[in-house]
Amino acid sequence: MAIVSQSELRAALAALPRVRLAHLPTPLDPCPRLSDLLQGPRIWIKRDDCTGLAFGGNKTRQHEFILGDAVDRGVDVVIQGAASQSNQSRQLAAASARLGIDCILMPRKDAFYEHVQGNQLVSRLFGATIVPVNAADSVKRAKEDMAARLRAEGRNPAILGMGASEALTLAAVAYVGAYLEIVDQLEALGEPLPTHVYVTSQGSTQAGLQAAARLLGHPTRIVGINPMDSRNEAYEPPASIARQCEQAARILGYELTVEPEDVTNSTAWVGRDYGQPSASAQKASSLLARTEGILVDPVYSGKGFSGLLGDIEAGRLTANDRVVFVHTGGLPAIFSYSEASLDG
Ligand SMILES: *Cc1c(COP(=O)(O)O)cnc(C)c1O
Repeated sequence: MAIVSQSELRAALAALPRVRLAHLPTPLDPCPRLSDLLQGPRIWIKRDDCTGLAFGGNKTRQHEFILGDAVDRGVDVVIQGAASQSNQSRQLAAASARLGIDCILMPRKDAFYEHVQGNQLVSRLFGATIVPVNAADSVKRAKEDMAARLRAEGRNPAILGMGASEALTLAAVAYVGAYLEIVDQLEALGEPLPTHVYVTSQGSTQAGLQAAARLLGHPTRIVGINPMDSRNEAYEPPASIARQCEQAARILGYELTVEPEDVTNSTAWVGRDYGQPSASAQKASSLLARTEGILVDPVYSGKGFSGLLGDIEAGRLTANDRVVFVHTGGLPAIFSYSEASLDG
């Protein structure tokens, strides 16, 4: 049962504060050679690796709403900390440069910190202030301490990413927009709704897609493949993804009830750990590259794609299904995982 119509949902989204950063709509590419080879479902890839800003990715779409809200509140400095190969840090540094907002990045001194490559290299090109955090320390706490210090100096900081629940909800709201794009694009192709949408997600991206499908009353199943599990500080369990769905709907003016058991988010494809390449992701990346000429990365989109292939191999998806894989980007990371990337 639909709670809202597509046009109402579009209008609710259009009423929110927003800055323009992304090249939208991103393409929806069919994958005929891959679908044939697998003898499985028809597959389309929603190319959010092509959002345009600083090599693209899902954070650019999300930052349109997160930074739209921040600008509205007079924020003059943004703080983000994560793995040293963070895609969010890269896209935030670029967006901040474009908007003229100061940006402080707090990369964890992890195994990829010393060699300045990939996302870390790109982040540094946009003039962000880099304040590294020791590998054993809490990045979340370091960001909070930094914000307190800036406030004491009379600045108006905003913390983004892990621990910033309002920003994470606005990130989800951005993916309500992505879902509407997918619906439009399939309709223009004369195709019915997808039976499944697969996406690599820690929470927000999945929550937005799922909130949209639920609000529109679509039976489409949203399947999240998590790049991390409860060992990681930034891990969000299904219960908080369900809450993010409800909160994203509420920001748009609608009440939605989502139970944790309504959320399909799998940690089965993490492999050894977050940020460590997995054999299944390497195999999946190589297959996609060789059949469709599309790249995924070893940390995020490659693991998500391995989850989709795993479900096809296990017979959980059949030739009658129609799947959209949302490509969330992450591509600069392939340059800091060069040896691992050739293993597949
Ligand atoms: C951040 C990121 C994700 C996860 O996004 P969420 O909104 O946290 O679900 C997935 N893929 C890539 C490439 C990312 O950078």
